[in-house]
Amino acid sequence: MSGLASEHQPEVILFPTTSRGRELAAMVAVDLKTGVLPDVTDLEVQDGKVLATRPVYGGKLLSKVVCNAMPQIITLRVRAFSPPEIDSSRTGQIDQVPAAVAEDEIKSKVSGYTEGQKGVSLNDAAVIVSGGRGVSNNPALEPPAGMDEGEVEIWRAQEGFKLVRNLAGVLGAAVGASRAAVDAGYIPYEHQVGQTGKVVSPDMYIACGISGAIQHQAGMRTSKVIVAINKDPEAPIFKMARFGVVGDLFEILPLLTESLKTRLSS
Ligand SMILES: Cc1cc2nc3c(=O)[nH]c(=O)nc-3n(C[C@H](O)[C@H](O)[C@H](O)COP(=O)(O)OP(=O)(O)OC[C@H]3O[C@@H](n4cnc5c(N)ncnc54)[C@H](O)[C@@H]3O)c2cc1C
Repeated sequence: MSGLASEHQPEVILFPTTSRGRELAAMVAVDLKTGVLPDVTDLEVQDGKVLATRPVYGGKLLSKVVCNAMPQIITLRVRAFSPPEIDSSRTGQIDQVPAAVAEDEIKSKVSGYTEGQKGVSLNDAAVIVSGGRGVSNNPALEPPAGMDEGEVEIWRAQEGFKLVRNLAGVLGAAVGASRAAVDAGYIPYEHQVGQTGKVVSPDMYIACGISGAIQHQAGMRTSKVIVAINKDPEAPIFKMARFGVVGDLFEILPLLTESLKTRLSS
């Protein structure tokens, strides 16, 4: 990338805000002695320069930034941009450049893959159904005999996450989680949404039993439609939700899943 950029002198280089995209953008910027505008959610051109918008302070504020050095390296938040209207008067040229790295220059080698959990990935998902600490809160669920208190909590949470997964299955959605759910061992870290998890921008984000702490909001605030299911009407998540259901997720999720299954199959 650095070699190509030195050869062609582009004004702007765009990467996706993925782990690899961030890493590559930073390394190319060091090579080219320029800066990076990371995790951008909107772009305009002003006075010949890119004016980028990026959420800061956990998404509480949107800052407008420019990169004063050239090339302007920018990482774009995945799914934050709608596909543009097709304008057939505009033309462009796509040059495919093979990666010119000799085998013996590669310092690390991929020795194999292990299959991850099946299901839709959070980064690509148009719809995400997420569960929080509330998914373990169903005292009416009778655990199998012989479990200690900690085991009962995990068992209850796993029963709760089955409801989250069922709804996700009907909607072709990915399953997300709050950090409280991840830290308590209900679900692996790869599902965590938020400041220290993944930042997502799906068309619809359904938060089940999640209070909506600022660090969680940092990861899902730019979702297009937010739906919250929570039994506490004062939960902060309702302040950002387009649709809110005040109630027990253990009653609501099965009803919602069945109803959507019927509607989507007819
Ligand atoms: C540095 C730092 C980084 C962090 N990073 C992240 C992050 O990346 N992602 C993240 O999520 N958090 C993060 N956190 C933690 C964050 O502050 C919150 O503690 C966490 O998001 C709370 O998760 P929760 O909403 O699942 O749990 P809680 O805040 O405990 O909320 C549980 C909710 O479930 C509801 N509920 C309970 N039972 C039911 C039921 N039966 N039906 C319906 N609703 C029910 C309750 O009313 C409550 O609102 C971070 C914190 C710090 C300090």
